[in-house]
Amino acid sequence: MSDHYDVLICGGGTAGLTVAAQLLNNETPPSVGIIEPSDKHYYQPLWTLVGAGVFPKEDSQRDEKDYIPAGADWIKDRVSSFNPDSNSVTLESGKTVSYGHLVVAMGIQINWNGIPGLMDVLGKPGTGVCSNYSYETVDSTWNTIRALKSGRAIFTEPITGVKCGGAPQKIMYLTEDHLRKQGLRDRCEVIFCNAKAKHFSCDHYTPTLLNICETRGIDVRPQTELIEIRGGSNEAVFRKHETNEEVVLSYDMLHVTPPMGPLDLIKDSPLGNDAGWVDVDQHSLRHVRYDNIFALGDCSSLPTSKTGAAIRKQAPTAVANILADRAGQPATAAYDGYTSCPVVTGYGKLVLAEFDYTKGPCESFPFDQNKERYSMYMLKAYALPRMYWHGMLKGRM
Ligand SMILES: Cc1cc2nc3c(=O)[nH]c(=O)nc-3n(C[C@H](O)[C@H](O)[C@H](O)COP(=O)(O)OP(=O)(O)OC[C@H]3O[C@@H](n4cnc5c(N)ncnc54)[C@H](O)[C@@H]3O)c2cc1C
Repeated sequence: MSDHYDVLICGGGTAGLTVAAQLLNNETPPSVGIIEPSDKHYYQPLWTLVGAGVFPKEDSQRDEKDYIPAGADWIKDRVSSFNPDSNSVTLESGKTVSYGHLVVAMGIQINWNGIPGLMDVLGKPGTGVCSNYSYETVDSTWNTIRALKSGRAIFTEPITGVKCGGAPQKIMYLTEDHLRKQGLRDRCEVIFCNAKAKHFSCDHYTPTLLNICETRGIDVRPQTELIEIRGGSNEAVFRKHETNEEVVLSYDMLHVTPPMGPLDLIKDSPLGNDAGWVDVDQHSLRHVRYDNIFALGDCSSLPTSKTGAAIRKQAPTAVANILADRAGQPATAAYDGYTSCPVVTGYGKLVLAEFDYTKGPCESFPFDQNKERYSMYMLKAYALPRMYWHGMLKGRM
């Protein structure tokens, strides 16, 4: 490990590894250091299908060391503070590393304790409370779905932004489909309690998704926020935003998408905006106050849906602008807000939503993506994971 890098990357997740690989694929690569504490890297988009029993969770996990690109130094430590005025970062070990350019790619914070009572029951056998939102709890989802023979299944979405805006409802469609296939659908109620007013962030796809809910008898309750879990009595407490009334619902299955937000470390640093996200220009990905700092992925202030697919388009922009700076050229690369959400609507069915800052559709295929398709399900389940491990993380796309 050196004490200075041309480009220092904080976070070796989806965004950090992709940027590192692309920088090092360049003909005259800069020196690159990646600060990442974890031994493992996860392909999180697979967790939807892990939770639905399609894949074992081990398929989503690889060793971090195998994805640190050749030529980069892996600094196995944790960032503890940013010192942008002295172009350096302090690590938990007490060391300081300086940089020419800094890339912040540290993901989102999941606030599991934001729902009182959740941690008492989450993922524990027999409680019925599960979540796809971590490697540790994702198999509790499939165990819960399998055990459900009758009663009420509730799926929640918090008021905060979440990574992959469609994921809270994907697992609901899969559970409903599973119940139908098992001949149990008539014995179960399926309810989607969404704290947000909107069913989906891109209006173009909303009628299709709401129509699926209506056809399949899913009870959609917008502006209904999970505020507490009473595990002892299998009850979930919700606040209805329109009336401010509290409603208590009993459950047999409760899939929780927990509230999320910016990392405390970023919020409390000079890099954060008022909300706590790394404050970058939405097109250049350059920090609005510090010229040599870039951010992308879930930790950034980019006003688009937080997905790995978005990072696939953000990374080349950040890399091109950093390399242009280093060459003394104008940095003109611009990101258009592209993001994609493969909304799995059942086993073998998927609506591939793709949109950008305009919130208009921005589709890749020469057919109408605004309908459920088997081919798009196969893309998500089999092609995208391969493209991720062998293409994106290797800086090839
Ligand atoms: C259930 C689920 C389903 C999803 N489905 C999809 C999908 O279908 N399609 C899609 O495109 N996306 C999907 N996503 C979203 C996608 O996985 C994320 O948007 C993406 O992984 C974010 O990448 P990132 O690099 O910003 O953060 P991460 O990949 O989370 O990486 C952040 C890294 O920063 C590191 N870090 C944290 N703190 C520190 C510190 N102090 N110092 C140093 N390093 C630190 C972490 O260890 C981590 O490795 C899904 C996510 C989930 C959970």
